[in-house]
Amino acid sequence: MSFIVEGLIIKTTPYRESDHILTIFTKEQGLISLFCKKNNRPNVSFISPLVQAEFVIRQGKGELYLCEEISLIDSFLKIREKIESFEAAFQILRLILDSQLPHKPAPQLYTLLIRYFQEIPQSSHPHTLSASFAVKILRHEGLFGLNAFCATCQAPLEKICCVNQGESFCQEHEAKPSVIMQKEELESVLFLAFGRNLQALSLYPTSPSLYQKTLELFYQSIRH
Ligand SMILES: [Zn+2]
Repeated sequence: MSFIVEGLIIKTTPYRESDHILTIFTKEQGLISLFCKKNNRPNVSFISPLVQAEFVIRQGKGELYLCEEISLIDSFLKIREKIESFEAAFQILRLILDSQLPHKPAPQLYTLLIRYFQEIPQSSHPHTLSASFAVKILRHEGLFGLNAFCATCQAPLEKICCVNQGESFCQEHEAKPSVIMQKEELESVLFLAFGRNLQALSLYPTSPSLYQKTLELFYQSIRH
């Protein structure tokens, strides 16, 4: 029996001569793999990463679904016009791939992803949006516990914050390995995590060092 899912293509892997296996982040089922035969796609540009579409699919062998039809929703052409936007969007795809499980529905995260993708082309700091999406994934997964106080002694973090597994500690209670943040960096990360106004986020500059620390925080928490 066939059914329809809406999703965004994360990865396209060529298979045999002209077929493909697509990895898709779907609204209804989280990550799924889709076998797409050449005859079942209207156009090769429909099966590239960053494409949002509706897929008519049916159960194939094992975990693999078979794709019967693709109807394009958005191919985010504007993201593809600038290297910085393109990089930010691909970083977000990688974060999804590294954090989400097959067949685990995450409809709110999917909706947020599409909102971020719509904002990226207008952003003067697209990498701020990918850093923000990283910490929003942690919040979504219940792995973000950073705040302005030490998780052990509750003392306010006045200068330095030692981050371990998504929690903040003072220097005395540092749990290693930790990501060390200055107070201003901690404040920025909290803004990236809780800021709801995407326009404000997309105008917010993030230093390369803070961007790196945000990704470290992400991978430290997600791999725990
Ligand atoms: Zn403490």
